[in-house]
Amino acid sequence: MSESKDFLRTIVEEDLKSGKYKEVVTRFPPEPNGFPHIGHAKSIVINFGIARDYHGRCYLRMDDTNPTTEDTKYVEALKDAVHWLGFDWDDTVYYTSDYFPKLYDYAVALIKMGKAYVDSLNEEEIREYRGTVTEPGRRSKYAQRSVEENLDLFERMKKGEFKDGEHVLRAKIDMSAANMQMRDPLLYRIRHAHHFRTGNTWAVYPMYDFAHCLSDYIEGITHSLCTLEFENNRDIYDWVLDTLELEPPRPYQYEFARLSMNYTVMSKRKLLELVEGKYVNGWDDPRLPTIAGYKRRGYTPESILNFCDQIGVAKANSTVDVAQLEFAIRDDLNTKVPRVMCVLDPLKVTIENYEGSEALDASYYPDDVPKEGSRKMPFSKEIYIDREDFNENPPKGYYRLTPEQPVRLKHAYIITCKEVIKDADGKITEIKAEYHPESKSGSDTSGIKVKSAIQWVDAAQAKKVEVRLYDRLYSSEAPEGMEDLNPNSLQVIKNALVEPAVITEKPDERFQFEREGYFYADPVDYTDEKPVFNKIVGLKDSWSKKKRSSEPVPKPKAKKVQVDGEVVPMNEAEQALFDKYTGELGLNSEVANTLARDTQLSSLYEESLSVFNSPVLLANIVANEVARELKEKQLNELKFNAKQIAQLVKMVDDETISNKIAKQVFEQMAKTGEDPTQIVKTKGLVQISDPAIISPIIDEIIAKNPDNVAKFKAGNTKLLGFFVGQVLKTTGGKANPKVVNELVAEKLK
Ligand code: ATP
Ligand code: MG
Repeated sequence: MSESKDFLRTIVEEDLKSGKYKEVVTRFPPEPNGFPHIGHAKSIVINFGIARDYHGRCYLRMDDTNPTTEDTKYVEALKDAVHWLGFDWDDTVYYTSDYFPKLYDYAVALIKMGKAYVDSLNEEEIREYRGTVTEPGRRSKYAQRSVEENLDLFERMKKGEFKDGEHVLRAKIDMSAANMQMRDPLLYRIRHAHHFRTGNTWAVYPMYDFAHCLSDYIEGITHSLCTLEFENNRDIYDWVLDTLELEPPRPYQYEFARLSMNYTVMSKRKLLELVEGKYVNGWDDPRLPTIAGYKRRGYTPESILNFCDQIGVAKANSTVDVAQLEFAIRDDLNTKVPRVMCVLDPLKVTIENYEGSEALDASYYPDDVPKEGSRKMPFSKEIYIDREDFNENPPKGYYRLTPEQPVRLKHAYIITCKEVIKDADGKITEIKAEYHPESKSGSDTSGIKVKSAIQWVDAAQAKKVEVRLYDRLYSSEAPEGMEDLNPNSLQVIKNALVEPAVITEKPDERFQFEREGYFYADPVDYTDEKPVFNKIVGLKDSWSKKKRSSEPVPKPKAKKVQVDGEVVPMNEAEQALFDKYTGELGLNSEVANTLARDTQLSSLYEESLSVFNSPVLLANIVANEVARELKEKQLNELKFNAKQIAQLVKMVDDETISNKIAKQVFEQMAKTGEDPTQIVKTKGLVQISDPAIISPIIDEIIAKNPDNVAKFKAGNTKLLGFFVGQVLKTTGGKANPKVVNELVAEKLK
């Protein structure tokens, strides 16, 4: 259930409580005339979400009343989208076209009641007769036709005796109604066209206003939820259902704001133009706001669901910043995906004093991610780094490799540049460097100062891949046409290099390429011969930076990103701390940087360190959790002290609780000041490491997911993570991930 109740849920709850309906029934009613987009996701989440939350039903209904634009391929895309978002429907997909015979009968009933008539004005006359907002309309002389004549004409319309546009069927309501929609709205029109489901059976097709309310009634819908532009149609909705005096209960229509988002377009018609005009590569082009596009780009369903949750349901239209969606995917992937190395623009580095080769231990996940796993990174004399990570004439504040400044190769050694080799045009073709044998990550005793760590790959074993960098489709916030398309929305890099584990181990299909962003193995074009990766999203919001570059950028108080090379240099005291932290205490440079630059954090860190000597674990808690608290509070306002932080870390250290649970405990401790040991005791959060408890949980998950087991056994080893994740979820994060990993691997063998 969504945390906060929106106005639609309030209505539904009241209707259930008052007994107006026994069960809530909603529907998602798209017209199959294009691929669904993120706006549809909002509607899907609302309709299916409400049905799920109130134990009702939600139908998927194709609103297929317009034979000229609809197609089964769109039906399939809609089904896919709903499934992908994690929803299911009542075994069958419904179609408005299945109700054509019933709808026809309802129209005949209205004619018999004298409430509908066949009009023979042409389109232009109909418009003219309708009047304006300030002037009432006039009724057509054909409105005086007798019931018999109307019945006869309508039947002949149906049989195809007339041409398109020759007659229409209209409701007889009120030509001077203030709501213009009520001025004898059209109910049926003649269309000699092939319908993708009913073929040539029908020569008349019902209009939305007639078909929608009755389809809702036929299906037993209780709450017909639609977007605001249908507000004025609600009167017709009610008129049709009431006039026909249908047996209760009947559905009611409620409107919510449609989603619009900047830097994109969101109507199927405009999307169709982009696809048909080949401005993009098909409906699933990763730059499109279609569900198929997001899926192919690498967005997770969870991120889209979270986004929909965050934007909420309101009654007023507004435009959502696409940065919010990008935040949602970044936030989701941050805790899930392995960190690996990819060099987009390779520059060769020869390490002259290195001989032979080795395999370096490199964790897939940073310490603050509750997942385990690592790979070996091959290292030898020739490696590649990114061209951008070397600068011969560095600007002030450039923290990466220069002729004077050494740099750390992440998970490996510190190197120093010895010589720059250039071609005849002056382009740098190679760096000759020296490595420092005692600077190996994790056991650095070199005492060498570096200001950042960069990604690299081993020349001999790196794999060539294609990388597709996507940017926003339009360069304008509110695009007006094709002229606003962003010419750089797709950049294809043919010769990027990734470390071998990405291809051979395939620890996942989504990755964080260190310092570049999140990437996804393209589900369509990826082959073993030519691996292709899509950029899902960057590590931070580069657009807001561009947009606001003239304003001073507010510096976050803690977490400054050292690795990026754009921050203020440290003063002497800070530098000394930083050196100590990265040196003797073995912290990674990002964490060390955060602590060293903030005296409150560093003093708290040192104090807790004196209570319990576990430098890395403590540093992670202080640099992340405590730093977050200190953004909002002063040091003396904190409810907890250094001793309690030490207590907490001790429990992680001796495996009483997992990393993940530690965060939960911290939150409680920050709120109440309670001792962490007490929190763990009262809440029963002790980590479960006992295989006898974990084993049956795994068995159950394996039994419930035969498809994934089969896929795993067929070689899709990525699914290991799925099973581990399910176990962790089932135990509320209490299972020991290491034990789970081992057991799952064992059982799936
Ligand atoms: P489009 O203009 O993109 O074709 P539509 O409203 O015609 O959109 P339908 O396929 O007829 O799309 O709509 C299916 C359902 O999705 C409707 O209930 C509609 O209100 C909803 N919907 C469509 N676009 C949005 C949006 N941007 N935000 C929220 N709901 C939407
Ligand atoms: Mg439409």
